[in-house]
Amino acid sequence: MSVITPATDLLRQQDPQMADVLAGERQRQAETLQLSAAENFTSPAVLTALGSALANKYAEGYPGARHHGGCEYADLAERTAVERARALFGVEHANVQPHSGSSAVLAAYAALLRPGDTVLAMGLSYGGHLTHGSPANFSGRWFDFVGYGVDAATGLIDYAQVQELARAHRPKAIVCGSISYPRHPEYSAFREIADEVGAYLIADAAHPIGLVAGGAAPSPVPYADLVCATTHKVLRGPRGGMVLCGAEFAERVDRAVFPFTQGGAQMHTIAAKAVAFGEAAGPAYTQYAHRVVANARALARALEDRGFTLTTGGTDTHLISADPARLGIDGPTARGRLAAAGIVLDTCALPYGDQRGIRLGTAAVTTQGMGEAEMVRIAGLFTAALRGGAAAQTRKEVAELTGGFPPYGV
Ligand SMILES: *Cc1c(COP(=O)(O)O)cnc(C)c1O
Repeated sequence: MSVITPATDLLRQQDPQMADVLAGERQRQAETLQLSAAENFTSPAVLTALGSALANKYAEGYPGARHHGGCEYADLAERTAVERARALFGVEHANVQPHSGSSAVLAAYAALLRPGDTVLAMGLSYGGHLTHGSPANFSGRWFDFVGYGVDAATGLIDYAQVQELARAHRPKAIVCGSISYPRHPEYSAFREIADEVGAYLIADAAHPIGLVAGGAAPSPVPYADLVCATTHKVLRGPRGGMVLCGAEFAERVDRAVFPFTQGGAQMHTIAAKAVAFGEAAGPAYTQYAHRVVANARALARALEDRGFTLTTGGTDTHLISADPARLGIDGPTARGRLAAAGIVLDTCALPYGDQRGIRLGTAAVTTQGMGEAEMVRIAGLFTAALRGGAAAQTRKEVAELTGGFPPYGV
């Protein structure tokens, strides 16, 4: 790819050891199937912004009110990113500085809560994120989390249970959002429950925000007080986070991001976010977001036909949660055999018992240009990989498939 090649050549001259590492990763991405539900391939334009001179600029504060000099272009980059995010999501205020999805959630809590407050969120054993109360994370240490689950039989959120827990625990905030839930949360139901008990509603839309941008998923913006998101999952931007909210929360959110939880923003990343928001505003991206969902549905059906049990019986998103138990194998073993065959994905919690399943998504393969026919082919490769014994052969077939769909267009 032309935007990468000259810089890559310079790096190779100076540091061949590291150049080999980067070339190896590029080859790995090209020759294996990237089915991690959290990953995607950004455009060359996004990568160009990431590798730009703004990487060297310090810009603590906000446009027009920086603690450093020389911020005229940094300000332009951030104002553009904010304006584009506001237009894309139809929201009054956007803070695009969070370094990651987790930083966005930390800032959201900092804006609305005090240590010791009670928060109701999806339990981690059902698909809640680390920042939703894990004892290993700041969230579990500093707040009193109560977890809601999903129905063991259907895998769906049980809104009666959420309401019951909200009434019993009177949380200061309710969090909706998950790392593995393949359906859309009913944001209006969460809003009603939050209103009934006087709680804030925080939507952690790290996964679906890219579908929201393309009109392929309902938006949490009209319902949630704060929407936290990543920019690097389906949304196909640089690694990073953001917080969206109404004007009434703007000041609290901004102060919660800087100076409360972060220092200087990463201006090259903010420029790359602006580029990604610009891409997401176009018709090609809208088509992309809908194809991501169509591909996920096709892949889900094909996996079900091959013996996988799908959490919630399918998907409305880019994400599939599946139990391979009927194939006589558990999630971690499946992930290992698939990885050996060049099929990369994650394990995830299942709604029942302690067994783990597999979690996969179609954002990256759809960016590569794959369609429903390829999804069926991928399901066939799953079967071959899980049988074990012929990993090298399956890996070759995977490389043949991906060879026709180079991730960076070359
Ligand atoms: C991915 C994700 C995050 C965290 O994003 P990072 O950029 O990895 O910190 C937070 N919440 C949810 C629900 C996620 O899926």
